[in-house]
Amino acid sequence: MKKIAILGGGESGVGAALLAKAKGFKVFLSDKGALSDKYKEILAENEIPFEEGQHTESEILDADEIVKSPGIPDKVALIQKLKSLKKPIISEIELAARYTKAKIVAITGSNGKTTTTLLTYHLLKNAGLNVGLAGNVGESFAKQVINDTFDYFVLELSSFQLDNCFDFKADIAILLNITPDHLDRYNYEFQNYIDSKFRILQNMNSADHFIFYQESEAVATELVKKSFPVHYLPVSLLEKVTEGASLENGQLEVNFQGQHFSFPQASLPIKGSHNAINAMSAILVAKALGIENEKIAEGLASFQSVEHRLEPCGVIDGVKFVNDSKATNVDSVFYALGSFDDPIVLIMGGVDKGNDYTQIEPLVKQKVKALICMGTDNQKLLDFFGEKVPAIYSVDSLLKAVEMSKQVAVEGDVVLLSPACASFDLFKNYEDRGRQFKAAVQALIG
Ligand code: ADP
Repeated sequence: MKKIAILGGGESGVGAALLAKAKGFKVFLSDKGALSDKYKEILAENEIPFEEGQHTESEILDADEIVKSPGIPDKVALIQKLKSLKKPIISEIELAARYTKAKIVAITGSNGKTTTTLLTYHLLKNAGLNVGLAGNVGESFAKQVINDTFDYFVLELSSFQLDNCFDFKADIAILLNITPDHLDRYNYEFQNYIDSKFRILQNMNSADHFIFYQESEAVATELVKKSFPVHYLPVSLLEKVTEGASLENGQLEVNFQGQHFSFPQASLPIKGSHNAINAMSAILVAKALGIENEKIAEGLASFQSVEHRLEPCGVIDGVKFVNDSKATNVDSVFYALGSFDDPIVLIMGGVDKGNDYTQIEPLVKQKVKALICMGTDNQKLLDFFGEKVPAIYSVDSLLKAVEMSKQVAVEGDVVLLSPACASFDLFKNYEDRGRQFKAAVQALIG
């Protein structure tokens, strides 16, 4: 009996274990950290041996195949050892894809993955398609293919998941953008990270569709260097495209194989030019799957904005409060700032990941009336923006940041939490940061 060792016992690892067991493999799951009680129960119920707090090499090195959680870097000793033994190391996505007949829509990019994935899923589901949602969002892909009941899957894929995909093949792929991120996992070589994102195209052929944002510099540069045997569907904010989608005079204009769809940007429930890119990408998927225009328009109008992504969370004395806690890098803040015409009181800061703020300098100068720096690395923000904004403040807690924003904002302003930084100085994660922000705003509303 073939043995599969699973490294990492989160949603994806446990899902992979359940699938492997259901398909008749001998399975062993190992997590160096602690497993949640819920997952321990599931593993025990399914008689899957597991360990936590360690990796027992004798149990792992004899496996025929390894499923590695995306959180485990290649440089750790165990992975190096497995590589030297030439053990196949795959991702949960690769394993699950072997067991589904569903058509796959795969979505990647440095920013915008979750929003685009959820919107695409919503459009397909609203049109009555039998569609599943997986990847980085929701339930594990592997778990969902055990009975393989869906006709379509919409998958959000990170570069780490793609790194360990080999035979995986998407029928439709979206590449939203590529900007430097996670370079610590790519030998500090941007090209390695770009190559990883382009793995989404592997195994695709001329019957398959490739949707990409053509003004993403890294994407465009790569497409000049290499060509792929797929049907190209560019998305543009700047120029009209005949096959693909573009923003023209405030309308999303989508052209797909002789069919046309048009929708006013102002009617999208998700705001900002980045969301126009996300929406046009999702609409192209819907068109490629033959969904009628009427259904697409209905789905776009009924999509709920995603928590922590430019999420409106209250109005106090004419001041709008917006939670964009998921903006953990500078590029996200760039798009967030571009989404508002009103003066902005910007709350930024946390743990700086080597940020270069020059990208947002012109927008900050143009739109930000006060900058509130909140977190461990305030000094860097004070040094960079000190002379460039009318007012700048340094605080050490979220409550103080919200109080300060209330004092300086006047009717018609927007208070925007869009930190550009990681959250783990003052918070558990970005969700915790966003929820605390919303609670503080609610407390002010009373
Ligand atoms: P991801 O899943 O890739 O992290 P999200 O959809 O969660 O992306 O959005 C994260 C942040 O990135 C949001 O707060 C938003 O400000 C920004 N963003 C969303 N879509 C885009 C895009 N297409 N291009 C650039 N930034 C974007």
